[in-house]
Amino acid sequence: MDKKVSKGMNKKAGKTKIENKNFPWKLGIYPLLELVFFIAANMVDNPLLSLIFVVIAGVMLSFSIHIFFHECVHVREEFPMPINIINTIFLGLPFDGYRVHHYNHHTYANGLKDFSSTWYIKNSKKTAFSACRYTFGWLQQLSKAMQEPKPFNEKLGDVAVIKARIYPQKLTLFFFCLLLAFIGLKTFILYFILVYFGWAFSSLHNYGQHPPIQKELICTYENKLYNRVTFNNGLHWEHHDKPWLSWEQLEIDKKSSRINHPHLIQPCFFTRNT
Ligand SMILES: [Zn+2]
Repeated sequence: MDKKVSKGMNKKAGKTKIENKNFPWKLGIYPLLELVFFIAANMVDNPLLSLIFVVIAGVMLSFSIHIFFHECVHVREEFPMPINIINTIFLGLPFDGYRVHHYNHHTYANGLKDFSSTWYIKNSKKTAFSACRYTFGWLQQLSKAMQEPKPFNEKLGDVAVIKARIYPQKLTLFFFCLLLAFIGLKTFILYFILVYFGWAFSSLHNYGQHPPIQKELICTYENKLYNRVTFNNGLHWEHHDKPWLSWEQLEIDKKSSRINHPHLIQPCFFTRNT
């Protein structure tokens, strides 16, 4: 089944550029909310309230990844360097590293070569990750992405050019963390909590989009209100089918696999034997 999906994706891989190249300002509401809750976490003196605000900021980061930054990587290399640097600070990881990770995802569509696959090999057998292990073990995906010399279909972009942009983004993160440490230990620790939980929620969201069930590799959540609020992020099957369309061009497809809960919540209702 993985082979079938990968072949389908590869056939269309040359056409992944989003045709509408306007900067997705509207979708920037999510990184803005991430910033607001992160500042709130810093400003309150109550440790519990501070933790609650930073976890909410983490949820906003996960939506930023799946909505705003996701739209940005599909516009490929159009944005100037300062935008990629700002994106890096909001993500807590190099923006072009996320680009490599996401192009790999579109090339292998949850197959075993996908860094974010919800499957892995155990005793020579394809095995489903549990939602918990998958969510909190997201750093494993990062190390896989860093080690793979040919992470995605070359039609999607020049891997050498993209990887060359990662180094200054890593340096930026290093100096940004130094700055936070000068501001205060609390701010420094809160930023690490934000980044770790933000990417953990993002992984959980990905698990809901690609639950490890043979018959439903890519899932759509069709609720109209949800898709209005998340800029059609629920239409994930449709996005994989036509990745060159921007969020506003996506439309529900009768053929798509559907789930009953938003992607971030779906893993809580997921049974592996279905
Ligand atoms: Zn995508």
